[in-house]
Amino acid sequence: MMLLEKPDTVALIFEHMRLAPGVGRLQVLNAAFAEIGVDGLEAIVAEAARFSEKHLAPLNVVADREGCSLIDGRVTTPRGFAAAWQAFVEAGWPTLDHPVEHGGQGLPLLLAIAVQQLIDGACMALGMLPVLQRSAARLIQAYGDDNVQREWVPRLVSGEWAATICVSEPDAGSDVNRIRTRARRREDGSWSITGEKVWISFGDHDLTARIGHCVLAQTEAGLSLFLVPSLLTQTDGAETRNTITVRRLEEKMGLHGSPTCALGFDDATGWLVGTAGRGLAQMFVMIRIMRISAGVQGIAGAAPAMDIAFRYALERRQGGAADAQAVPIIRHPDIQQQLMKMAAGVEVVRGLANLVAVQAELAQLEAEPADRDAAAALTQWLLPILKTLGAETGFNTANGAIQVLGGAGYTADWPVEQLLRDTRVLTIYEGTTGIQALDLLHRRLWRERGKGLDIFLASARHDSTCEAPHRAKLVACLVLLEDAAAQLLNASNDRVANAEAAATAFLHLAGLAATGWVAARLASVHGDSPSQRWLSACGRYWLTALPARAAALHRDIVDIDEDRAVLAEVFGDA
Ligand SMILES: Cc1cc2nc3c(=O)[nH]c(=O)nc-3n(C[C@H](O)[C@H](O)[C@H](O)COP(=O)(O)OP(=O)(O)OC[C@H]3O[C@@H](n4cnc5c(N)ncnc54)[C@H](O)[C@@H]3O)c2cc1C
Repeated sequence: MMLLEKPDTVALIFEHMRLAPGVGRLQVLNAAFAEIGVDGLEAIVAEAARFSEKHLAPLNVVADREGCSLIDGRVTTPRGFAAAWQAFVEAGWPTLDHPVEHGGQGLPLLLAIAVQQLIDGACMALGMLPVLQRSAARLIQAYGDDNVQREWVPRLVSGEWAATICVSEPDAGSDVNRIRTRARRREDGSWSITGEKVWISFGDHDLTARIGHCVLAQTEAGLSLFLVPSLLTQTDGAETRNTITVRRLEEKMGLHGSPTCALGFDDATGWLVGTAGRGLAQMFVMIRIMRISAGVQGIAGAAPAMDIAFRYALERRQGGAADAQAVPIIRHPDIQQQLMKMAAGVEVVRGLANLVAVQAELAQLEAEPADRDAAAALTQWLLPILKTLGAETGFNTANGAIQVLGGAGYTADWPVEQLLRDTRVLTIYEGTTGIQALDLLHRRLWRERGKGLDIFLASARHDSTCEAPHRAKLVACLVLLEDAAAQLLNASNDRVANAEAAATAFLHLAGLAATGWVAARLASVHGDSPSQRWLSACGRYWLTALPARAAALHRDIVDIDEDRAVLAEVFGDA
């Protein structure tokens, strides 16, 4: 028996929703939220938990073992996916946070990410499909012309049709400027798209009648964005297949239920979305949502891994006095440390995800332009941090759970090895950790002169909900972040490479500061409910090592010259 039992994921999600900074303001500004209140959100989350348990969880292992198949050029998803998807759409789950005028329910993103945690926690592979739809619907709402919007947005919002994001190519991964797919305007106003896109999630499947590929391609004006449908409707209403072929279905380490395709576009028909030459900037509407979702996927994968580790540690008996029955391994201080590291790590990142979700929406809804601007800058600052920390938390927690389970964790008898494989990709897709670090350095720190950082520092420092001893640890970390940022901001042109070498350490230091803020808020919670006590313990645990961990990262950044000297000796100009 533990003195303080670990609450289940749903109870923790409820508590976090109430604690998120800005949630009260969001409730005032979002009409649907104002109507149903936090209690209403909780009822929906509880229903999502029941739905996921009934329809999605039973598919997870089957999907991992069966995977997808490519038969006669078409992708077939694992057994049970089609029925589960139909149930998902009929229940209205894809519609939650879309505007009412587009067929959505107008509920907050905060709710959508809570629901995503339960869907992905049950079956992460299938959970990737609605994220693509949600983000593509937003992209087309933002930039599609009237015809494209009328045809696509309601069907994407409802889940009737699906979408992909087609950026990557064999020679263009992180470096999107090397995209070679070309688009040529035809006389009838449509565009001809020719090229190859690789690693396209849900590039083909049997779950929806139509797929809209959001494709970045080169035009004379530069990189442009196109909507390229899998099926075309002729003037007589007949449907024909667009000239898009699945050239390969990837064999992957994990997420076997999610088909990852190489797609050939051979004079395929598409439509320009927005302005020619502005494709990448526009695509960021989709990429932003997908990066939040990648972070949330990590939290979703971490939660079941952590639950299994706690349950196992309570039951597995090893050690203790030789002449007595062996004790549950949860009695060993080393196991307690491992479990608490996982628990605190998951809860601070869950809190961070809510912080980002609330700020992202306030950036749209605030009445004053200056307030919208501040919320947007804070969101942009926190986005690469959430993406990275969520992704790392998913993998590290699955890894930690395997360690707690010992040999059993390494076998397929327990789902933690699948969680390890499924979450491994999260620090790679939607921009690798290295690319997130460069985003923070080049865009947020150098180009915007640390505007988002300043708003973050002021918000964290002046958060009156953080009590003095917890605030002191947070402030120690903020001071180190501010000092490291000042050094990087002042880096002269001939020291760009040094700053880039320190970028990932800086991203992680910024991550400690962001989770430190969440932890200081959690540590200051004083309720008596199991969730409140649990979150308070997690917050205090996360804060104990915070200043020392931040100091180590700060040293990595300010002493980068020493590293660079060794790198130069080893790599030269390689
Ligand atoms: C399962 C899966 C699903 C995917 N789904 C999609 C999808 O739906 N749509 C899509 O378009 N793509 C998708 N991708 C592709 C994914 O976005 C890319 O893999 C990712 O952007 C990295 O590109 P890359 O693999 O070519 O790695 P590379 O760009 O070759 O990078 C390799 C390494 O070099 C580093 N690196 C690269 N450039 C720099 C630089 N300038 N400075 C410092 N370090 C650098 C990277 O950080 C990385 O560590 C998917 C990938 C996978 C594995």
